[in-house]
Amino acid sequence: MVVTHNIAVTKTERSKLNDFPLENLPFGKYFTDHMLEADFENGEWKNIEIKPYQPLLLSPSLAALHYGQAIFEGIKAYKDPTGNAFIFRPYDNFKRFNVSAERMQMPTVPEEIFIEGMRRLIELDSNWIPAYENHSLYIRPFLFSSDEMIGVRPSETYKFMIILSPTGPYYAAPMRIYVEEKYTRAAPGGIGFAKAAGNYAGSMLATAEAKKQGYDQVLWTDAFEHKYVQEIGTMNVFFVIGDTVLTPDLESETILSGVTRDTALTIVKEMGLNVEERPVHIDEIINAYKSGKAVEVFGTGTAATIAMIRELKYQDFVMKFDTDKWKIAPELKRRLDAVRTGNAEDKHGWMFKI
Ligand SMILES: *Cc1c(COP(=O)(O)O)cnc(C)c1O
Repeated sequence: MVVTHNIAVTKTERSKLNDFPLENLPFGKYFTDHMLEADFENGEWKNIEIKPYQPLLLSPSLAALHYGQAIFEGIKAYKDPTGNAFIFRPYDNFKRFNVSAERMQMPTVPEEIFIEGMRRLIELDSNWIPAYENHSLYIRPFLFSSDEMIGVRPSETYKFMIILSPTGPYYAAPMRIYVEEKYTRAAPGGIGFAKAAGNYAGSMLATAEAKKQGYDQVLWTDAFEHKYVQEIGTMNVFFVIGDTVLTPDLESETILSGVTRDTALTIVKEMGLNVEERPVHIDEIINAYKSGKAVEVFGTGTAATIAMIRELKYQDFVMKFDTDKWKIAPELKRRLDAVRTGNAEDKHGWMFKI
């Protein structure tokens, strides 16, 4: 066992690396040889360990299973054309993770464990970063309450983990989206701005009902009037009307502050477009569509980067878009992918070298 910076490393005796090719793997299904685990007990972080990927032994009374104090992050690592490994904007995810932790009454995770632990884990499993175009290593840090006691109160013990999943190109075909007016994802004062597990459990029924009607995802709207748009499924939403790029602002704390959202905002400003972050009313989109203005609609997130929307259904009104004619979203996607994969100059210091 090698101990450096208090992270104990136990290497696997048998690597799974050559068991299957790293090409075209489905998202989130295969995991690398190692994982990081750390425990929060008596007010401090301990047992920080990188060890072979393996199942956990959990008590049936584990607090997280009952009351859902559980948060996560999603980050990607890439190999640039010369084979150097990079993580894309991990400090932004680190900050957001601790914002989520505070909202859920969980302990924050120090940089030394989140960033340095992640760096060491990826360094150890760096051969798992697929060296194919549009492939990446998906990084999943997560934190859950681990008290073995049934009772609604913040847990005293927690477990922080990082697992890694090699993933193939994420091809998101242009999607059909249903504007949701019955179910609500987030309301002011709630947990919509946190990457908390319960947000996703609460969203599944709405998605399932939209799918039954032939739609891929829902566009969430505000809790009071169901008129102001929030997010598309688990992606931030953007609209292009003429040469203005519009996205809902983060003021009401009902929207997840996406790292891809922030990256996209930076890039569209560099493209010379007008950018407006403000409440976006569905009628504004409908009016622009009806008046024949060029409208583009897309979602942004770590997994898909840019997911184009080819149909938007609001009540009985269906807006159809010919995504092949779009100018802004494809150019944004091209630039975003280029910077994420080290194929464009890193002007903003987004690439964190392993
Ligand atoms: C993770 C997530 C996003 C996208 O965030 P990125 O940092 O860009 O990956 C957007 N909305 C929700 C609800 C999310 O969970």
